[in-house]
Amino acid sequence: MRTFAIKNEIKLAHLSGNGIRFEIDGESYIDAASGTFNLPLGYNHTEMVDALTDQIKKASHASSTYTKPIVENGFCKLLDEAPENINKIFMRDLTGSSANEAAIKMAMKSSGKTGVLSLMLSHHGQTALTTSISGNAFRRESFPSLNYQESLKVPAPYCHRCFYGKTYPDCGLLCAERINDFIEYSSSNQVACMIIEPVMGNGGNIVPPKEYFQLIRKICDEHDIILISDEVQTGLGRTGHMFASNHFDMKPNIITLAKGLGGIGIPVAAVLMESRLEVFESYEHSFTSGANLLAISAAQTYLDVLEKENILEHVRENGNLLGEELTELMNQYPFISDVRGLGYMWGLEISDREGHEDPKMTQKIVETSLKNGLILRSSRYGFGNVVKVRPPLITSKAEIYEIIEMLKKSLDEVI
Ligand code: PMP
Repeated sequence: MRTFAIKNEIKLAHLSGNGIRFEIDGESYIDAASGTFNLPLGYNHTEMVDALTDQIKKASHASSTYTKPIVENGFCKLLDEAPENINKIFMRDLTGSSANEAAIKMAMKSSGKTGVLSLMLSHHGQTALTTSISGNAFRRESFPSLNYQESLKVPAPYCHRCFYGKTYPDCGLLCAERINDFIEYSSSNQVACMIIEPVMGNGGNIVPPKEYFQLIRKICDEHDIILISDEVQTGLGRTGHMFASNHFDMKPNIITLAKGLGGIGIPVAAVLMESRLEVFESYEHSFTSGANLLAISAAQTYLDVLEKENILEHVRENGNLLGEELTELMNQYPFISDVRGLGYMWGLEISDREGHEDPKMTQKIVETSLKNGLILRSSRYGFGNVVKVRPPLITSKAEIYEIIEMLKKSLDEVI
């Protein structure tokens, strides 16, 4: 039985990773959570390691004042894959939180409006502004003075537990329709932007129906609202597409990226946007380590590897297999009430006998899996009843079967 107890005497040298496996002090784990969803290429991908080694020998950093055009030109390939209206990249951020903050600030400055719409259950980061727009009250309650007055939280498209007690498609997407009321009556039409994840990650791996995003786009157009797609979790291959926005035909005005962009966990973030939104003066959103050359090298190499190793196709193909195998588990274990996901981004919703959320059982599954050598994460936030299965994008078919076997063993033990 593995312990994963980080003891004081364990040193950095006792931690290592190889492919999708992670070792602590001689105990080995399969990391089916991809670190914090930021290890799409696993722990030690050769091309990433070589590129970073080369880069650090040349220059690890130079002020972005001088490197800006060189850095941003290196991402043309990424723009080629983005929705047509998006034609600019902004590379000053190292985290998803600050990329989202950049996007919101761009929307506010360019529109002159103040309101920010986000979904209940959503999570967009932990800076002051992103904390205050969080769709989870518990993230905000310790910081009452940070509550941004112009933040509106609207019901999420959580069909499995509809906020309005309806069933899709008879609901007519009421959760989206009602957003009009929030805009008109709660904000006096002062909404600058709506920020939304194509698949809500921390909120419980919620995959909305495709038409949801068409309706959201229409509402944003009618009220002149900038639509920000937070693809910090879903972007760059996680759903089997470069952008999950493409899968949903979502047409956002801004896309934010982080987590996976560094390939093997190197911190880096990006904001892709329409050129009309390039509104910052240099002193309005820039950081000492922004556009750090190691981070940029990691991001550019990651994009090369995605293409060379045909990873998007690999994820689409094997992601279906992963979904089928997880659905098979749902048929065997009554406490799994829903399986939903795309690509290598899946969630198992855990419910009690009465069909209510079961956060305790969810935690038990995650802890038992860990003891058995399988790292998973749960959406401890939101309703806390979803086990998330998100292996690195390089995970092979054989490794998927291995993950399923280990998960099955853990499910047998928790009954
Ligand atoms: N957006 C989403 C959807 C996230 O999941 C997260 C992190 N969990 C963030 C933003 C914030 O990213 P970071 O932790 O890199 O600041």
